[in-house]
Amino acid sequence: MDKQTLSFQAEVKQILHLVTHSLYSNKEIFLRELVSNASDACDKLRFEALDRPELYEDAPNLEVRVFLDAAARTLTIRDNGIGLSADEAVQHLGTIAKSGTREFMARLEGEQKKDANLIGQFGVGFYSGFIVADRITVESRRAGLPPGQGVRWSSEGSGEFEVETIERAARGTDVILHLREGEDDFLSAWRLKSIISKYSDHISLPILMRRTKWDEEKKAQVDTDEWETVNKAAALWTRSKNEITAEEYEAFYKQISYDSAAPLAYTHNRVEGRSEYTQLLYVPAKAPFDLWNRDKRGGVKLYVKRVFIMDDAEALMPVYLRFVKGVIDSADLPLNVSRELLQESRDVKAIREGSTKRVLSMLEDVAENQKDKYAEFWRQFGTVLKEGVGEDFANQERLAKLLRFASTHADEGVSLADYVSRMKEGQEAIYFITADTLATAKNSPQLEIFRKKGIEVLLLVDRVDEWMLSHLYEFEGRALTSVAKGAVELGKLQDEEEKRAAETTAEAFKPMRERLKTALEGRVKDVRASTRLVESPACIVVDEGEMSPHLARLLEQAGQQAPATLPVLEVNPEHALVKQLQDDARFDDLAHLLFEQALLAEGGKLEDPAAYVRRVNRLLAAPA
Ligand code: ADP
Ligand code: MG
Repeated sequence: MDKQTLSFQAEVKQILHLVTHSLYSNKEIFLRELVSNASDACDKLRFEALDRPELYEDAPNLEVRVFLDAAARTLTIRDNGIGLSADEAVQHLGTIAKSGTREFMARLEGEQKKDANLIGQFGVGFYSGFIVADRITVESRRAGLPPGQGVRWSSEGSGEFEVETIERAARGTDVILHLREGEDDFLSAWRLKSIISKYSDHISLPILMRRTKWDEEKKAQVDTDEWETVNKAAALWTRSKNEITAEEYEAFYKQISYDSAAPLAYTHNRVEGRSEYTQLLYVPAKAPFDLWNRDKRGGVKLYVKRVFIMDDAEALMPVYLRFVKGVIDSADLPLNVSRELLQESRDVKAIREGSTKRVLSMLEDVAENQKDKYAEFWRQFGTVLKEGVGEDFANQERLAKLLRFASTHADEGVSLADYVSRMKEGQEAIYFITADTLATAKNSPQLEIFRKKGIEVLLLVDRVDEWMLSHLYEFEGRALTSVAKGAVELGKLQDEEEKRAAETTAEAFKPMRERLKTALEGRVKDVRASTRLVESPACIVVDEGEMSPHLARLLEQAGQQAPATLPVLEVNPEHALVKQLQDDARFDDLAHLLFEQALLAEGGKLEDPAAYVRRVNRLLAAPA
């Protein structure tokens, strides 16, 4: 390929501008990013070479070298990893293939304190080199290609870059930074070493720099020809637990997760038995921006005997634990394990089960011993954990104990166990109501009788709640029961007198019931005398086994057809408005209004709001 000048993709230009301007105060992170790319490139080679050992050529020891040329003012990061072909250089260094770029930019622009970790999270680390360099030259040869097919890529980080084919004997990549005026700081080997040990100690590859010595004549440190390893280069998880400090665990977490905050909790174990592996798993303190993306991978890295194999969270962790970060290192899996094999392997299944249990134990421990921390965890990840109730039946009981809700008793943090401990004498079921918002739930007319009797009701307002409950029928032998479905069965909570009174009322209500049914023909399936209402005149309920209006709305929002069922209108015969209905000439309007108000109170939408407004106006204008 002759020398070509190409333009960066528009997004890259924006990213470049943002990264170089907004991360200026934390510029040293460029080295972390470039070293981590070098290390990734070595991991990729190791993986491809499992099938094609010839890719190692005559350099099987993978390593990263960092060196300076003070006269030329260049800093080079060299690796002998997979390298780049000319096409790949154009592709990977000129465009951003990843999704989330827009979010990244919005975050970076919005963020008060510019978070340098964002760039790693969003996979645009390479461009951070331009914070300190006014030109970056990349020279590379992809493993397996002949020396004549090397590539040189070069750019000043504004709008364009150049690429050309070069002759290059060495496999792998040199990233050469031409340091900007005023960045002499990074021409100090000592400074570079300190940055590397700060960020890259846990990279399991040796990072080499030239040993320096004092030159009496020049009165300065000068490089020797000897190379020394400047990072610890020991994979943290292979070390024994009692030799690792909390700081080291935390630093490793930050390294693999690009999180700037410390993890919420971690667990490190060597598992022996049928399947042998080491797990080092972290629960982050904060939800990542893409928590909702169920296809996201990369939380847990799989190693086999310390060789990086792949990021494949799904085979190693259930989807509902996709926020877990860490490393699993297996002693039994074959090194050439493929994705397909991974899905079927019994060893992997054992690892996944074992790791899931570990994470749950870790969460149980936090829930038990650090309640505030658990509350924060729940705020961040609770909704995701709920997915597990419907997806992981083997652990459903343990997951149910980890759930937290709002209830009529407290706005958050109510566990099912708390609820059970507060159940009233004679109460058999765990009651709940689902709604779109906490306010709607709290003010639901359906709750009135429960309020009056002092019975706690769980208020479920998460989108997944209704779905989750379709998989969770009971907790410790107590049925989970909606207060908005079917007739309220208060069972032993109602005394004989109350039961008789209710029957008498229902009997007396019969004629009115028929009149209302006729008036509301086509809008309701049935009208009933309610036992659940105290202060409100009416409410909407659905029959047992039918879809709640709340769930129907969620389905419609998701573009799905919800089954068309008419609701049941429950009317409070004791209510003044209902009593007065009897002899009112405006019966028809009032009947519809009763129904429409009940719909609104439940969070529903009116099919014909204008008709409702006309009705209200008619009633306001013509008093009884
Ligand atoms: P990320 O590392 O998250 O993919 P970067 O911006 O850091 O994002 O790097 C972009 C891409 O450039 C990498 O995915 C990789 O394909 C390529 N790349 C960067 N540095 C190297 C390197 N030293 N060797 C081979 N490929 C590299
Ligand atoms: Mg990177």
